[in-house]
Amino acid sequence: NMQVEKFNLNENSKIKYTLAVVSGKGGVGKSLTSSLIATHLNKLGLKVGILDCDLTGPSIPEIFGVEDLARGTDTEIYSNVTDTGISLMSMNLLLPNKTDPVIWRGPVLMNVLSDFYSKINWGDLDFLILDMPPGTGDVPLTIYQSYNVDGVVVVSTPSKMANVAVDKAVEMALRLNQNLIGEVQNMAYYRCKNCGEKEYLFGKYDERPGLKRIAEIPFDTDIGRAVDAGEVEFLEVYEYFELAKELQKLLDK
Ligand code: ADP
Ligand code: MG
Repeated sequence: NMQVEKFNLNENSKIKYTLAVVSGKGGVGKSLTSSLIATHLNKLGLKVGILDCDLTGPSIPEIFGVEDLARGTDTEIYSNVTDTGISLMSMNLLLPNKTDPVIWRGPVLMNVLSDFYSKINWGDLDFLILDMPPGTGDVPLTIYQSYNVDGVVVVSTPSKMANVAVDKAVEMALRLNQNLIGEVQNMAYYRCKNCGEKEYLFGKYDERPGLKRIAEIPFDTDIGRAVDAGEVEFLEVYEYFELAKELQKLLDK
């Protein structure tokens, strides 16, 4: 039970609730889920920020169509803001050339995570959403140990391979004493545009014991296109977004 040092949050950032969005696997929809959660909370009138913690595969700026490089001083980085007022920060807004790959070893990544925490000035936020990289490596480990994370949402897709990877992410969160809020199943089904019927492309995967299913997001061409166009915050609020109720409960606490 090694004691690990906590990072210091920037003194101008006042954050009420920090929610990490994780999965053992890439391409399952963590960034989409982070973005939908942020969009939803923002529509409720809450102050929301997203920190893109996927340092080697950042995607949050693209999803929201934000391109301006971050501004800052030696000691502070100012978060950028989307069209509807969501604050965000990402490695991609700090690199002069966004096609430059980030090729760093663990210790350097740790320093970046520490800088993110201590230098980004978010102002007042109700929710900070941490969009995590895939897997159970250095970045999630450092974030669980050195950030103040209040809750974890796990993203899965209904396939055997994704579920094995998700089990690892769940196990990691539990071992690091995290508070698991529930599971979002992405690409859960496809709704036929003609008859309205739900088709479960990969079959149904039941709730895991001890992990509440808080949303099923369909495979949806509107979602895919909105993400590609950088317009995710203009998607309508979905019927399937039962997640809203769970988020409300967090707020009430
Ligand atoms: P991750 O962050 O887990 O790697 P992303 O959120 O970036 O995954 O999603 C990967 C790709 O799949 C993106 O291009 C995204 O637009 C697309 N995608 C994710 N979920 C859906 C969905 N439910 N319907 C349509 N496209 C989706
Ligand atoms: Mg991602």
